[in-house]
Amino acid sequence: MNKIIIAIDGYSSTGKSTLAKQLAKKLNYIYIDSGAMYRAITLYFLQNEIDCNHLDSIRYALSQIHLNFVHQQIHLNGMNVEEIIRSMEVSNLVSEVAALEQVRVFAVQQQQFLGKERGIVMDGRDIGTTVFPDAELKIFLTAQEDIRSQRRFDEMKLKSETITFLEVKTNLAHRDHIDSTREFSPLTKAIDAVVLDNSHLSMDEQLEIAYRWAMEKVMG
Ligand code: C5P
Repeated sequence: MNKIIIAIDGYSSTGKSTLAKQLAKKLNYIYIDSGAMYRAITLYFLQNEIDCNHLDSIRYALSQIHLNFVHQQIHLNGMNVEEIIRSMEVSNLVSEVAALEQVRVFAVQQQQFLGKERGIVMDGRDIGTTVFPDAELKIFLTAQEDIRSQRRFDEMKLKSETITFLEVKTNLAHRDHIDSTREFSPLTKAIDAVVLDNSHLSMDEQLEIAYRWAMEKVMG
């Protein structure tokens, strides 16, 4: 069977990772969470107090960063950071770091390398536009803002993060704004992407739709 590339893009907390993970499992494909890469870089920047306005510091910091995925969990210089990169501290800075040109070049190169054999589902903001403009299936996932904020809030509560609904909503709006207005590969729907609004869909329903689209492409 044809191995294809599936790009899933969209605003924050639309459930991209959930869909991408389930779809990859069903197709027996690799799943890559590109946002985790930007979050891990941000964690490194925070831990090492990197000045985002200083090009040489950014360049040096990136030369010290090694990212890899082990069982879908992101590792930063050999350490599993999957949990810690979801903290509010990282969420509050990640879009500023992800907007830096050097950071994008660094991450995109690695993402393209990971997809060179195809048979991959990658979710993010610029996967269908910049990372894999030739992806066979591009899905642009959307959901109403309040529904997205509520989902994120519920998820964070489960992890017993002390946070208010308003803080979550503000963070999502802040990231969406920076992500869609930045100079280098802003978040935007690729012209050949199909829109999937999951505001009122269950996870099973959205998976069924995406799987059907994927099989249509796989069968050519
Ligand atoms: O997907 P997630 O919400 O974890 O991504 C965190 C942040 O990483 C996004 O808000 C965005 O700033 C950045 N990102 C990006 N390009 C991607 C994936 C994520 O700029 N492909």
